[in-house]
Amino acid sequence: MRLLIANGYVVDPSQGQNSGRNVLIEDGRVAGLLNYGDGIPEGVEVFDAAGMIVAPGFIDMHVHLREPGQEYKETIASGVAAAVAGGWTSVCAMPNTQPINDSSAVTRFIIEQANRAGLANVFPIGSITKGSEGAELAEMGEMKDAGIVAVSDDGRPVPSAGMMRRAMEYARGFGLTVIDHCEDKSLAKGGVMHEGRMSLMLGLKGMPAAAEDTDAVRDCLLAELTGASVHLAHVSTRGAVEAVRQAKERNIRVTCEVAPHHWALLDSAVEGYDTNMKMSPPLRSQEHVDALIEGLRDSTIDCIATDHAPHHQDEKELEFDRAPFGITGLGTGIGLALDRLVHKGVISIERLVELCSVNPAKIMGLDGRGTLRKGAWGDVTILDPDCEWTFKSSESKSKSRNTPFDGWKMRGRAVATIVGGRVVYKS
Ligand SMILES: [Zn+2]
Repeated sequence: MRLLIANGYVVDPSQGQNSGRNVLIEDGRVAGLLNYGDGIPEGVEVFDAAGMIVAPGFIDMHVHLREPGQEYKETIASGVAAAVAGGWTSVCAMPNTQPINDSSAVTRFIIEQANRAGLANVFPIGSITKGSEGAELAEMGEMKDAGIVAVSDDGRPVPSAGMMRRAMEYARGFGLTVIDHCEDKSLAKGGVMHEGRMSLMLGLKGMPAAAEDTDAVRDCLLAELTGASVHLAHVSTRGAVEAVRQAKERNIRVTCEVAPHHWALLDSAVEGYDTNMKMSPPLRSQEHVDALIEGLRDSTIDCIATDHAPHHQDEKELEFDRAPFGITGLGTGIGLALDRLVHKGVISIERLVELCSVNPAKIMGLDGRGTLRKGAWGDVTILDPDCEWTFKSSESKSKSRNTPFDGWKMRGRAVATIVGGRVVYKS
């Protein structure tokens, strides 16, 4: 099986590549970048990428696929279909399924289901503690042997610093990154949106930025103490970005990601009590959004991840206080980044590829991903940076429709997704 992605513009910061080249993929692996003048090798399937950007496959390192246990919201098959339609060749699956992914049996089940679906690569993330209950460490070694790439208690953050320290020491021994959802529940409990002027006006209980800041600072200190590799999920506050910036200046092994909704929307969007504006961490006020943009600009923020969190319509149709946290994101993440970051001059296209491919591969230790070097996996995201389009949630491959971006017009999108040398999506 040979595929030539011809006439495109290759943007691959992992090898300083930013030029018009053809990409040859053989038996699922990159066989090389060819000059246009080299012509077309015999017997290859040709994918014409004229006018397109050809990038190493995008990796969404933070998604909730809901299977096992909540297949009415999403299955692994529907989740990976949504992923490739959104331009993602790989996703990392958070462990808060039912049961929680705290054992090699659940890890293996997820990998088997993903293989059966045969679209995007799925890399499972194991839980930090058994049942994500914060009391007892999970069997990280067994799960690593089964295929996990990191550990996290996302959604039910490890409450005590002592337990987090032990988790980091344990994970470090297995070479696993610890991903934390920073939220001190003693500050945030009962909150349904960002605490501030808007929450007062709307009469909703707020979650203060300090709830995220406290845990972010704690995790940076513990990363320094333990030498573990620590990644902060979906940073949304000025304080969390600043904590990471200072930790990096001191060469502590801390990285972080941001979700598109946190820089694309403000807490004022909650005004109509639309439950598709409810997620955790919550939409923040302007000063925090400004800090996220600055973090994207100055490389404090390492990755863009969607935190794709499907919920059934019946659950989201409850009143704001009672509806579950979370929105879908696989279909909109790349379009929003092109439209709101690249075209607005916040980041360059090279930096976008770093944020969505090179850096997630590095942080998750995904060898042969996040690059189009010879010998790497033939995972490719093809972008049309100027395509004007409208996102329609009704056309999404996800089983759920809980998005705040329905009907949004964007400029730029992923138009094809290639996994292991196979075109798995083409718009
Ligand atoms: Zn989370």
